[in-house]
Amino acid sequence: MTLDATFAVAWMNAAATALDDACPLLTELDAARGDADHGVNMQRGFAAIAAQLAEEPPSTAGEALISASKVLRRTMGGTSGPLWSAALRRAGRTIGDDPRTLAAALAAAGSAVTELGGASEGDNTMLDALLPAARTLERELEGGASLRDAVTAAAQAADDGAQATASRMASKGRASYLGERGLGSADPGATSAAIVVRSLRQAVA
Ligand code: ADP
Ligand code: MG
Repeated sequence: MTLDATFAVAWMNAAATALDDACPLLTELDAARGDADHGVNMQRGFAAIAAQLAEEPPSTAGEALISASKVLRRTMGGTSGPLWSAALRRAGRTIGDDPRTLAAALAAAGSAVTELGGASEGDNTMLDALLPAARTLERELEGGASLRDAVTAAAQAADDGAQATASRMASKGRASYLGERGLGSADPGATSAAIVVRSLRQAVA
């Protein structure tokens, strides 16, 4: 399989649909830990990406993700808007035709978020879903798994990473002001990042 524009557009469209469905859940998670805007932020940002990619079809996967990054810079608020914009720009610059570049693109997205936001894995952020997914994807592809199987394993790693945030206190972002009161529910940004990773499954079907 080639990581072409059709693949990237299918990924972004699947993410837009999944984030629309998950909006109530993400709102609830952000109500417990933050200010309840994360569902709407992600829903609005990715809906705008889907609209833009339909209006101006990209010619490569990289072009699609860079276009998505620009859309988010315009449309998505919160702390997560600029972070996702940086993540997609870096992913777009890194991704190529070869399936292996998808693992590098996810890792590059994580690096961009780290550089901009200063968080590390374990701080209860979107990185707790993104980075395990990038590592798992790389390991599976290196081991000879098909892209489809590797993406399925990466989606599971992202979900596990997001779930693990429920049993830790946040040290970055609004949830860090809560201390122990933030325990028990998953970080909204890690949960939505896992949804974005899981959406890859529809793009590699
Ligand atoms: P805001 O916190 O401004 O309301 P959102 O609710 O849209 O923005 O996004 C909150 C999510 O952003 C958090 O759940 C967390 O995953 C992520 N986040 C917050 N700060 C950082 C950071 N410094 N680095 C990485 N991710 C972060
Ligand atoms: Mg919020």
